Amino acid sequence: MTSRPGRVRWLRVAIVVAVISGALLATAARAPLPQGWDGVTLCYPVVGPVQRLSPELTDSARLRIKAHEDEHASDCSRRGSLPYFVELATARGRLRAEARANCAEARQQLALGRNPYVEFERLIDDLRYGHPWFKRFPDSVLRGAVRDACPDLAAAATEPPWASHCSARPGAPRLDHVILAVRDLDSLAAQFRALGFRLKDGRPHPNGLLNKHIKFRDGTEIELMTVRGEATDRMAREYQALIAEGDGGAYVALRLASLDSVEAVATRLNLGPRRSSAGPWQFLSFEPRSPLGAVFFVAGGAPAVDPDSIFVHADSAKGLFAARVEGGPELGTLLEALGATTCDRYGVVAGHPMHTLALEGRQQLVLIPPTGQFPRPVVVTLYTGRKAERAPMLILPSFALSYR
Ligand SMILES: [Zn+2]
Repeated sequence: MTSRPGRVRWLRVAIVVAVISGALLATAARAPLPQGWDGVTLCYPVVGPVQRLSPELTDSARLRIKAHEDEHASDCSRRGSLPYFVELATARGRLRAEARANCAEARQQLALGRNPYVEFERLIDDLRYGHPWFKRFPDSVLRGAVRDACPDLAAAATEPPWASHCSARPGAPRLDHVILAVRDLDSLAAQFRALGFRLKDGRPHPNGLLNKHIKFRDGTEIELMTVRGEATDRMAREYQALIAEGDGGAYVALRLASLDSVEAVATRLNLGPRRSSAGPWQFLSFEPRSPLGAVFFVAGGAPAVDPDSIFVHADSAKGLFAARVEGGPELGTLLEALGATTCDRYGVVAGHPMHTLALEGRQQLVLIPPTGQFPRPVVVTLYTGRKAERAPMLILPSFALSYR
């Protein structure tokens, strides 16, 4: 027998490649899922889809995630691993694939009797917050992708279930103002002016704070804040810390007739309320890193007398309608104790509750899980004279303005 070295070498290489790929495949299929992942579908040549689901999922979450991953798996089997990966290689392609998988998830949820509007919004939120690749896409692109992937769901998602019935008890907190804190006050002010807002200059405060106001006729406002010079008290130092983390939403101020009830409830819930006052205004706030760090309560105060022109803004914006704010479930508990009503609760990213609360005057506060070291407001929605709802505009990298 003569040996044939060329063929033997080729065979060896093939065996080594097969063993290595087999080992990689086996490792990938068994390695623990990355933190926060509910499931993943790997798509191999020849072998096809390999699915992994987190063992920590509850039964109902498991069914939902399974529907999602099954859609990826059927993509993989139908198209083969190479086209599957090519689609995932671009953010747009990945958005299409995730929108399809999210639709499968929504259909499973609709079969269980979930509301189409709530499901549609949940899908948008899952794309926005659950996937780092889609952060730079504007809301309109995310909505377009979901509409393309599931036209049936989009058509059914007409009205929020709480639109007609959800309202707060009398005396519940209401939105008073939303504060943005930035390094460069003038450039933020210029941005709002370019959008058609009228701004009113604030004054330099002795503690280092400097502000500007966008005031609405209904008494609500958007306040723009910066620290100029040295921050000399706790409030100014807290703004400074927020700005050091990044420009963005700072606080939502909620108005009550008196702070006694909120103080009593917050104390009973062990939330560490801090009371202070400035002239006729009274405040009740929380430690900025706490689950309630993004809100404070305000009572009293004397309305400033402003010329009528100060209230005239683009798109006849009339006032604050809603704010989306990061916070812990403690914030929802406190607001409910004060008369706010839970209108809906659904998952943003599986396992993290998102929560819509009705406030006084049909306003809404949407509570979402925090992402940074300080919980912050991330969206403010204004009432307008326009009929059509408009997609949110990013004012700062982590803060959007929307209209209703
Ligand atoms: Zn997916």
